[in-house]
Amino acid sequence: MITKNKFICENISRTEAGELAFAGVPLSCMAREYSTPLYLFDEDRIRERCRTYLRAVRDGFGLGAKVLYASKAASFKRLYEIMREEGMGIDVVSTGEIFTAYSAGFPLESAYFHSNNKTDRDIEYAMEHGVGTFVVDNEEELLAINEIAISRGIRQRVLLRITPGIDPHTYAAVSTGKVDSKFGSAIETGQADAITALALSLDGIELRGFHCHVGSQVFDSDVYIRAAEVMLRYVAHINDKYAFLAAELDLGGGYGVRYVEEQPEIDIAANIAEVAEYMNALADKLGIPMPQVAFEPGRSIVADAGLTLYTVGTVKRIPGYKTYVSVDGGMTDNPRFALYGAQYTILPVAAPTPDNSVECSVVGRCCESGDIIQESVPLPPDMKRGDLIACLTTGAYNYSMASNYNRLGRPAVVMLSGGKSYLAVKRETEEDITSLDV
Ligand SMILES: *Cc1c(COP(=O)(O)O)cnc(C)c1O
Repeated sequence: MITKNKFICENISRTEAGELAFAGVPLSCMAREYSTPLYLFDEDRIRERCRTYLRAVRDGFGLGAKVLYASKAASFKRLYEIMREEGMGIDVVSTGEIFTAYSAGFPLESAYFHSNNKTDRDIEYAMEHGVGTFVVDNEEELLAINEIAISRGIRQRVLLRITPGIDPHTYAAVSTGKVDSKFGSAIETGQADAITALALSLDGIELRGFHCHVGSQVFDSDVYIRAAEVMLRYVAHINDKYAFLAAELDLGGGYGVRYVEEQPEIDIAANIAEVAEYMNALADKLGIPMPQVAFEPGRSIVADAGLTLYTVGTVKRIPGYKTYVSVDGGMTDNPRFALYGAQYTILPVAAPTPDNSVECSVVGRCCESGDIIQESVPLPPDMKRGDLIACLTTGAYNYSMASNYNRLGRPAVVMLSGGKSYLAVKRETEEDITSLDV
């Protein structure tokens, strides 16, 4: 039987024998059945997160409110099926994501097409596949979309991405809402007004409203309230100036996730309720009807529904320095420490020993000194070749950022639900890796 312990997320526990389990499944069984390195996804947790978001936005903003899963966080066919079943919309950012969602039977009418640089081919491809709404970054792109829409005899629904000028106090690499950003048109510089006027003048464009996204891994609920205030005032301003009333207002994603114990767990429902209360009051004060509000969570839908399982190989103890524990994956399956020092909790799968005191660097097997999964990980002193370790909270931006560096194959993705497991993405073989070489 599985006993509950206190871990950073509820789906982690230990079996009676003390071994680590995820979503109720002992991890050694998963290693035996599917081999390592392995991505595991807790399907029940993903569904629960979707429902929490959907309930919260409908309670706060009414039945027209939407939740769009930002699928860049993790994109493969099975996830789009789950999103369809849960009544979620999606964000897509590339033809690859569009095709994956399409292949999974996701209704692309409910898809929003992002990216700060959509090529003409991207635009054609998205229109061909019936992507419902484009989120337009800049004037040049707007003109290109207009031209292609006219040539196809359609009016394309769009939201304009607006930069509200909010600093979300998160990592620079994932901060996007400041004026000095490669994303969107800033209110402060007048570019937001200009692109709005342009959108309203174009025959191939049906302007639906506005979008903003202040950043990622945001813990401060105040950030959303400030962004919502700027955006709602902007909606009122555009209504005054151009007699255009936005039908939709998309507040983006970014709610933070607990990777390590020191971080809080955000109560999504309470946060959205707070934002809704503030916005409903402000809309009344401004004398405008509330647009249909959308949120675009990526990380907070899938992050703690994911776990990566590794087998330990070389353990190198350098006297007077430190201990390197090498695993059978690395920056190829999780580049986030190498990219921006992202924090993770790593635990041995075997029953805990009293002594968990050696601080180790958990490193990958790529030919690159920066190939580090995490520094200063407390592990038992007797870690050895063949032991299993688990890196928690890897559901977001791990599989989707994985690469074939060193011609390593990407791990398989296995879904867990109700104590059972099934394959969602096969492990990449050497033949897969050479399949495009001519
Ligand atoms: C990345 C992104 C999101 C999702 O952000 P998370 O931090 O994963 O929730 C939402 N909207 C846009 C426009 C994004 O670029």
